[in-house]
Amino acid sequence: MTKIQSNLDSIIIIENGRNSTYDFRSFLYKQGFRFSSASRWVKKIDSSDKDFIKGMKEYCKHNKLKFVMYDKRYARSGGYRQEFYKHKKPFYKDYYLCSYCGLPYHIDKITVDHVIPVEKAKKSKFYRWLLKLRGATGVNDIKNLVPACQSCNSRKNAKGGLWVLLGYLSQLNTFVVIRQLCLLIFIIVVIYTMIRSVM
Ligand SMILES: [Zn+2]
Repeated sequence: MTKIQSNLDSIIIIENGRNSTYDFRSFLYKQGFRFSSASRWVKKIDSSDKDFIKGMKEYCKHNKLKFVMYDKRYARSGGYRQEFYKHKKPFYKDYYLCSYCGLPYHIDKITVDHVIPVEKAKKSKFYRWLLKLRGATGVNDIKNLVPACQSCNSRKNAKGGLWVLLGYLSQLNTFVVIRQLCLLIFIIVVIYTMIRSVM
C-alpha cells in the first residue's frame, strides 16, 4: 500500500467579504476549513492541489467572500525566537543592541523583530522578492530577524520602507560600529555642554 505524501505548505483563509462567512459555515466546514477567529475560516493545503484552490477561489468570488492564500513560509512561526538566539550571540555579555535606536538592552528586555514584517510578506510580492534577494527562505529565516527594544518594535509594528532598510543595515558590522560611534560622540557632546553650563 502506498501512502500519498501530502505537503501542507500553504494556508487558505476565507474572511468576510460583502457577505459574511457565517452564512457559508456548513459548506466551509465540509471542505475542511476550521473556524479561527473574527469570522475567519482556515485550512492548511497542498499548493499543488490546483483544482481545490481554483474551486475555492471561484466559490468565494461567486459568494462575495474574501479569499486569501499564502505560503506557510511567510507565516509567523513560534520557533523564530529560539532560532534567533541560537544564531545571534549578544553584543556584550547578556546585552543586545537594538537594531533601530542602537541602545543596549538586557536579553530579558530585548525582542526579536522581523525586518520584513509577517503581514507585509504575506500581502506584498515586492517584500517576498526582497526576502529572496536577501537569501532568506521565509520571514522566520535568521536573515530576516534582528534584535529590537520593545519601544522600537512597537513603533515599527508592521511598517516597511525605511524601517526595513535600517533593520538590514544593522546586520552589517560596519554600520553598527559607525552608529555606536555617533551615539557615543553625541553622549560626550551632551555631557560636555552640561558641564560647561554648570561651570
Ligand atoms: Zn530601540
